Amino acid sequence: MPQAFDTVTEFFEHACRRLAVSMEICEIVRTPDREMRVEVPVRMDNGQLKVFIGYRVQHNGARGPYKGGIRYHQEADVDEVRTLSALMTWKTALVGVPFGGAKGGVQCDPTTMSKTELQRLTRGFTRAISHIIGVNRDIPAPDVGTNAQTMAWMMAAYAEEHGYNPGVVTGKPVELGGSLGREEATGFGVALMVGLASKDLSISLAGSTVAIQGFGNVGSYTAKYLHEHGCHIVGIADVKGGVYNAKGLEIPALLVYALQHSGSVAGFPGGEPLTNDELLALPCDWLIPAALGSVLRADNAAKVHARCVVEAANHPLEPDADLVLAAKGIPVLPDLLVNAGGVTVSYFEWVQNVQRFSWDLERVNNELTNYMQRAYRAVTNRARAERISHREAAYLVAVERVVSAVQLQGLP
Ligand code: GLU
Repeated sequence: MPQAFDTVTEFFEHACRRLAVSMEICEIVRTPDREMRVEVPVRMDNGQLKVFIGYRVQHNGARGPYKGGIRYHQEADVDEVRTLSALMTWKTALVGVPFGGAKGGVQCDPTTMSKTELQRLTRGFTRAISHIIGVNRDIPAPDVGTNAQTMAWMMAAYAEEHGYNPGVVTGKPVELGGSLGREEATGFGVALMVGLASKDLSISLAGSTVAIQGFGNVGSYTAKYLHEHGCHIVGIADVKGGVYNAKGLEIPALLVYALQHSGSVAGFPGGEPLTNDELLALPCDWLIPAALGSVLRADNAAKVHARCVVEAANHPLEPDADLVLAAKGIPVLPDLLVNAGGVTVSYFEWVQNVQRFSWDLERVNNELTNYMQRAYRAVTNRARAERISHREAAYLVAVERVVSAVQLQGLP
């Protein structure tokens, strides 16, 4: 398999060629501005010392402070973190928030660690990267395997060295300066994108069928909102297993069930068991990968029977899956656009922190809707005008904005 970073670079270079970007600018923007690898020794609960490896990669900062989540996962290696950092550069540019792109990761399995171990790991990792982050430098947020609690520990560890400054991380608990609506923002945005696409694709949203891979923060809120819009969520699968119900799963009951079963939908009595492979091949209107990257490749993309694929996860499709789906006439709404709701409300959180002022939920959701609708229109108008895919269009819009910011600041 090619390195994931190479595939994202290909999308970028393709956009550069179409936009006639100079070789010099292309060279500056292609690779990350800075990559930091740190060792984080942690005393585990059993007294043993374990050394974890973490990364913070800052891809591009031309449009503002670096911005992006921190992932805790066994496979969070430098290639993955680098790839995700570049995606953040394009995502923040596309949705129009004044940030650059970054990503962090620690190689660990948070599901096997106690809360105190996770706290020690988070504090150690934050200390190790603390001199390259900051409210006007680089602002971490949650991602796979991390949450508001992780951000609270990061904020506290940062404050010990640099003083209280809540805007250094976003996605915090509301009690510590987090924004209302941040936790549900990514799923809210995904549902919004499905709603807009349903009009363009002439699929009636109420009564349309949905298959979702993943039931973490993104998958669960996506299911909740689409269910509220009248969609039938026929299948959901996560790492432990899945459930299928042709008439539509009872999402409120499933949300309660998952809470009681370590976040998993496996074994839910309101449906039949379903594997991840079966989920990806389900006949449905919307297939929504909302878990990890590279889940659709040429082989299983050939079996997709959805009318539209909606990338709620980051980088869920390999480029050859894109080609297979295009040949089958199945449109793909790209990650840059679909899951940008999270970083958009992160921006609102940062604004509230900087101004020491908080917004009500209605204001957050109205602004989020404005930002996401604008980005959706920018992508679909460009795709139509240039007869290209939504992904190509999203990259054109994003690369244009970043390149212009680099150019305006002047080359050495
Ligand atoms: N981890 C999320 C993403 O991939 C959110 C990043 C942020 O809020 O900074 O977009």
